[in-house]
Amino acid sequence: MNIKKVLASISIIALSYSSVGLTAVNARSNDDLNSETSRKIVVFKQGTSDETRDKVLGVRFASRKIKRLENSRADVLENVSDTEIADLKTNPNVLRVETDAIATIQVRDARETAKGGGGVTIQAQTLPWGISKIQANQVWLSGNTADPIKVGIIDTGISLSHPDLALNIKGSYNAINGRKSANDDNGHGSHVAGIIAALNNTTGSVGVAPKADIYAIKVLNAAGSGYISDIIEGIDWAISKNIKVINMSLGCACDVQSMHAAVIRAKNAGIIVVAAAGNSATDPVIYPAAYPEAIAVSATDSSDQLASWSARGPEVDLSAPGVSIYSTYKGTGYATLSGTSMASPHVAGSAALVLFKNPSWTPDQVIAALESTATDLGIGGFDNLFGFGLVNALAASQ
Ligand code: CA
Ligand code: CA
Repeated sequence: MNIKKVLASISIIALSYSSVGLTAVNARSNDDLNSETSRKIVVFKQGTSDETRDKVLGVRFASRKIKRLENSRADVLENVSDTEIADLKTNPNVLRVETDAIATIQVRDARETAKGGGGVTIQAQTLPWGISKIQANQVWLSGNTADPIKVGIIDTGISLSHPDLALNIKGSYNAINGRKSANDDNGHGSHVAGIIAALNNTTGSVGVAPKADIYAIKVLNAAGSGYISDIIEGIDWAISKNIKVINMSLGCACDVQSMHAAVIRAKNAGIIVVAAAGNSATDPVIYPAAYPEAIAVSATDSSDQLASWSARGPEVDLSAPGVSIYSTYKGTGYATLSGTSMASPHVAGSAALVLFKNPSWTPDQVIAALESTATDLGIGGFDNLFGFGLVNALAASQ
């Protein structure tokens, strides 16, 4: 959250004599971490050598070590008991021990969709309402289709053989298992990918930035959930590939310091980080969207109303179409889905269009352009429902 936003939210709170926004932020702490997982992220102090780290973990954890996160100075362990956590915390080389929380896709009624998705007959290309709402199709007329801006989709993978996506897929990585492909076994990642960059051809759907280079970064399993440590690895892979925009239509009520550090690393590397605000109107904006370095996106419908279930709060930066969005799905299919998962990629695609126009811009410059040109909705100026307003790809990329 920038200073402008802090001031805006303070004035909103003052005007409404309500402190709901601030209470919500303060109420969140590390105690809210998902307790279902016994996976831990052991972070070592700066300067600790690999050898020392191996020695600290020793034979006791050798069979339970999942992976080493090089850029986080951390090792991920599974089945760690409370006694072992206490032991690790007393080791002079250990900085902290974090819960490797579980993040999930931010789509509504995913199971219902999975049943019906993938079976839609391919027909003449339709222009999804969200694309025309944010005026992305008018950007293409000037020759800007974000070719070849690199966009990383940190998700369940992408259907690598989808006829409406394959030509744009320029790389892939599976952070859950490096020996496996990043093909999408859920459908969610393919849907998100299509909102960003489905091809502008004669069939199916079309994305915001139809010639962007997309990268499938699989961090979530077939059920649509995955560990924070795998998301961190995915973010670091995106940094290593010089990707310019990353979309994370995922999250949880999990403020894990190592994930925040990874988001900061990405922004410092010149990456625009866009994330779903979450699908619960009564809970705070989820992480990683809630981090100040990420663009948090709430969801609107075709009448520019905030979706009743969309998360809201002072961390929301922008809003975008997220109700009944038609896009590509797993296999060669298509599906219509709702969620802040669908809103976030409308902003990620818009960021790619802005970058094509202004290739030397820093993330802060791109974010400022997206926010200052957004269409104000709700009460005048910044508000907790729509942030700075509905993203407008055309105005932002002028
Ligand atoms: Ca198409
Ligand atoms: Ca407003």
